[in-house]
Amino acid sequence: MKRIAIVGAGFVGLRVARLLAKHAENRFTVVLIDKKDRFLFTPWLIDMLAGKMPLEQITASIPTIAKRDGFIFIKGEVHDINRKEKTFTIHAEGTQKMTYDKLVLAHGADTCYYGIPGAKEHTLPLKSIGDAKRAQESLLHLMREAEQTADSKERARLLTLAVVGGGPSGIEAIFSIKNFIQKKQTDGTIDPTLSLRYHLIQAAPQILPGFSQTAVNIANRELDNHSIQTYTSEAVIKIEKNTIYTVSGKMIPAHFILWTAGIEACPINIDPNVEIVKGYPTVDNYLRLDDSIFCAGDISNLKTKGVHVPKTAQVAMEMAEVVAANILKEDAGARLRPFHAETKGTIITLGKTGFVDLFHTLAFETPLANKLRRAFYRFRFKQMTGLDS
Ligand SMILES: Cc1cc2nc3c(=O)[nH]c(=O)nc-3n(C[C@H](O)[C@H](O)[C@H](O)COP(=O)(O)OP(=O)(O)OC[C@H]3O[C@@H](n4cnc5c(N)ncnc54)[C@H](O)[C@@H]3O)c2cc1C
Repeated sequence: MKRIAIVGAGFVGLRVARLLAKHAENRFTVVLIDKKDRFLFTPWLIDMLAGKMPLEQITASIPTIAKRDGFIFIKGEVHDINRKEKTFTIHAEGTQKMTYDKLVLAHGADTCYYGIPGAKEHTLPLKSIGDAKRAQESLLHLMREAEQTADSKERARLLTLAVVGGGPSGIEAIFSIKNFIQKKQTDGTIDPTLSLRYHLIQAAPQILPGFSQTAVNIANRELDNHSIQTYTSEAVIKIEKNTIYTVSGKMIPAHFILWTAGIEACPINIDPNVEIVKGYPTVDNYLRLDDSIFCAGDISNLKTKGVHVPKTAQVAMEMAEVVAANILKEDAGARLRPFHAETKGTIITLGKTGFVDLFHTLAFETPLANKLRRAFYRFRFKQMTGLDS
């Protein structure tokens, strides 16, 4: 029986495994490998940070899904891929070498600090459940310290928070942080009289790059309404404990700094080499690296019409469908299906309001943004896992 091995159980990997397992019959076995044994619905990390979503509702057990849907799950980290031998190694408790007939690389991307001095040491990322929990703990710790500080200047310093990165994650995260603190002030966990200052720092000339001007205007207005000080064209060049230094010479004090400024490829050694651009393997229109390896999602480098395909969960799920279809087509000797990136809608929440952005060309504001997003994500979560959230 042929073996289809899939590296990474995120939006691409888990979806490919589930789609292929339906058609496996006695033709092939599907093996999914991930360092972690829970699938994380990352868009909900923003809601978890706000204290709106409990942990159990934003993750799902991969071994349980594998057992139900008929594929094999191995918890371990994949290293060295040998394309000539068609093998790779899995590091778990020991090291295991595995052969493949088809390999799907879907191991995603990680937080990128661009080598900026102090960025990794003095900021918190937002990529995992642990990150969201650490951010909440760090906020609560700061608030308690502020409560016990008699000196008003020192207290004001402690109550200064910043998010670096003005993309969708950064914008939503700063409203989530505000929400989390307000909730804790309302339920009496922290002093309701504490007054906080928020900074949003963006390297590009505007927030939400690539979004329509209407979307940018709505977000800017809401940031303003919430007294969130926004800096644009202010690339961060250095971070020291409690201070952010920007390219124009600004020194922005912040006792809590969340870093949402970019991602970089998770490296896996591939031998012989394939074309790699900034760590991302370049795929063809059918999402292939060679005749036996597909690569999709955040880890893949693909341009359509001269533009890089965005690294989003939405795109990852579309890519997963093309990869699964093409593996079945190859098996049946049929013509492969090319991938076409289609940017549909995005819902961005900004505290109590938000907007729906369509095709990055038009946007409309709605107070129902939170409800719409929640309903849509529940649908996506079910599509990904077959489970209700
Ligand atoms: C806070 C946040 C909010 C987001 N919000 C949105 C949103 O609202 N809408 C949207 O469309 N996108 C959103 N995204 C982006 C989205 O999460 C990614 O684009 C998507 O997860 C990419 O899917 P993927 O399958 O390529 O990678 P991932 O989902 O990252 O999965 C990769 C998997 O590979 C595993 N892995 C990595 N290396 C190895 C290895 N060597 N061996 C074994 N396993 C390995 C990892 O553990 C991981 O499970 C958000 C991301 C973040 C961090």
